[in-house]
Amino acid sequence: VAKGAGKGQWRRYQSELHGAMVERLELRSALEHSVKEGQFILQYQPIVDLATDDTAGFEALVRWDHPTRGIITPDQFIEVAEESGLIVPIGRWVLDEALRTVAQWRRLLPRSRAPYVSVNVSVRQFRAPGFVDHVRTALQHAGVPPQALMLEITETLLMGDEERIWAELSALQEMGVRVAIDDFGTGYSSLGYLRQRPIDVLKIDKTFVDDMVDNSQQAALVSGIISLAQTLNLTVVAEGIETATHRDMLLRLGCPLGQGFLFSTPVGATEALHWLTGPAAVAA
Ligand code: C2E
Ligand code: MG
Ligand code: MG
Ligand code: MG
Repeated sequence: VAKGAGKGQWRRYQSELHGAMVERLELRSALEHSVKEGQFILQYQPIVDLATDDTAGFEALVRWDHPTRGIITPDQFIEVAEESGLIVPIGRWVLDEALRTVAQWRRLLPRSRAPYVSVNVSVRQFRAPGFVDHVRTALQHAGVPPQALMLEITETLLMGDEERIWAELSALQEMGVRVAIDDFGTGYSSLGYLRQRPIDVLKIDKTFVDDMVDNSQQAALVSGIISLAQTLNLTVVAEGIETATHRDMLLRLGCPLGQGFLFSTPVGATEALHWLTGPAAVAA
């Protein structure tokens, strides 16, 4: 509170703070309840080959299916889930469910069109004991090859540059699971640290895609990320492609893959399968 602020202003501040705390506690206990009740669902957004329009895989995105409030998106609960540690059981469920779904898709599709699923993993979840083991057993239970799974981590996880994290990422990569850095470019990181690291994919954050059309500096940055990725033998996925202009520009810059509302919003598992089979096959 600003120096010299009146008593009334301080009280108002305190009561707002109190209100926010109560809200957080309520959210936390509701979240705890929903973990027990299993009130989560996954939606899937296609990751598209920008040159051919083929679907390479899907990103799994969690939603809280609240009995009275309806569908709640992750921006409204992931932070509290992280703080409370509830992200660990939620994240386990997400991984299991995403793998069950990709197993089903792969059973129904020819091998040449078998998609992968990309799963977001939060820092707390990754750092929780037994994460890598859980990935291994979840793959076995689902009966899918590790190539059917990609894990999306954030730059924050790598910031400490701890050897344990790199070792676990290496273990995942040796297993055959691919690792992507999500929201690439938004975090505080130098590009050099990616050299010879167990990373397969960079996902360019949608803020760059948004801005590159009217801002030549942003466009140069995107171009730089793509050529860096090529040098390091990494794949690039651009996020938040909303217009044909976005797509065309990314293609020109050499970006192979992308996702965004231009192609599809996140959809349910059945609708996602329709994406892979095409409308004719679905109608049959
Ligand atoms: P993210 O992983 O970067 O996911 C991309 C977000 O952008 C998704 O929001 C997606 O619906 C949205 N999006 C996709 N295409 C477009 C587009 O063309 N335009 C715009 N404006 N938005 C687009 P969503 O589903 O609300 O998820 C938000 C964030 O929540 C995710 O960002 C991810 O960080 C986190 N999240 C989602 N699911 C999970 C999960 O299962 N576990 C964890 N730990 N985090 C998750
Ligand atoms: Mg993601
Ligand atoms: Mg992202
Ligand atoms: Mg994001």
